[in-house]
Amino acid sequence: MSKEKIRLCPECKGIIKSGHTEMVYELKDIKITVKNVTANICSKCGQSFITGHVAEEVNRLVNRVREDINSFIKTQPEASRGHKEVAIAV
Ligand SMILES: [Zn+2]
Repeated sequence: MSKEKIRLCPECKGIIKSGHTEMVYELKDIKITVKNVTANICSKCGQSFITGHVAEEVNRLVNRVREDINSFIKTQPEASRGHKEVAIAV
């Protein structure tokens, strides 16, 4: 615990605490929500900050899901009509 430094939000100078956030990606008609992403969140304005490493992991995950969705759409064109939402918890 002693290693943890207090970080301040560049936007509002609020204290940033570690927590979790959601990242939303839109691809074609499908919205992908990645839940439980480890992030640093400003306790004042709610801005979330994600480290490069975490962002990379989430991108990799979304790319994999995107491939799955594309092949799903190809085989199930009827099921993919309309707006779809996919939620992933990490
Ligand atoms: Zn802030």
